[in-house]
Amino acid sequence: MVIRYTRQREAILRLLRTTSSHPTANEIYLQVSEEIPNISKGTVYRNLRVLQKIGLISELDLEGTNVSRFDAKQDNHYHFKCEKCGGIFDIDVSVNNKLDQHITLNTGLKVLHHHLEFHGLCHRCQEF
Ligand code: ZN
Ligand code: MN
Repeated sequence: MVIRYTRQREAILRLLRTTSSHPTANEIYLQVSEEIPNISKGTVYRNLRVLQKIGLISELDLEGTNVSRFDAKQDNHYHFKCEKCGGIFDIDVSVNNKLDQHITLNTGLKVLHHHLEFHGLCHRCQEF
């Protein structure tokens, strides 16, 4: 049993590490089902919680999305949400750490990190 659960967890983690699409729990379930046909939705959800708790993945809750998405990329990075196709993309521009200092200097609040999300049209959606 333990081995099976581990295999399921590994399959979920492997999937998240090989995609940049920030899939929903349901999308993860559908994909992992191809590898492990008898996996249940509950197992996928439970393993997502465990992976999140141990810090291997994070849950993204971006503005205007009614369902959580998951990300295995754990270094701090910004996201872009396309308002037309709903796609969520990683922004390949380094996080602006000066912003943390700027906030600290101006407010006295000790900023440890920040999250930013951008909204607009992706490359593909700008063509149509
Ligand atoms: Zn788009
Ligand atoms: Mn990401």
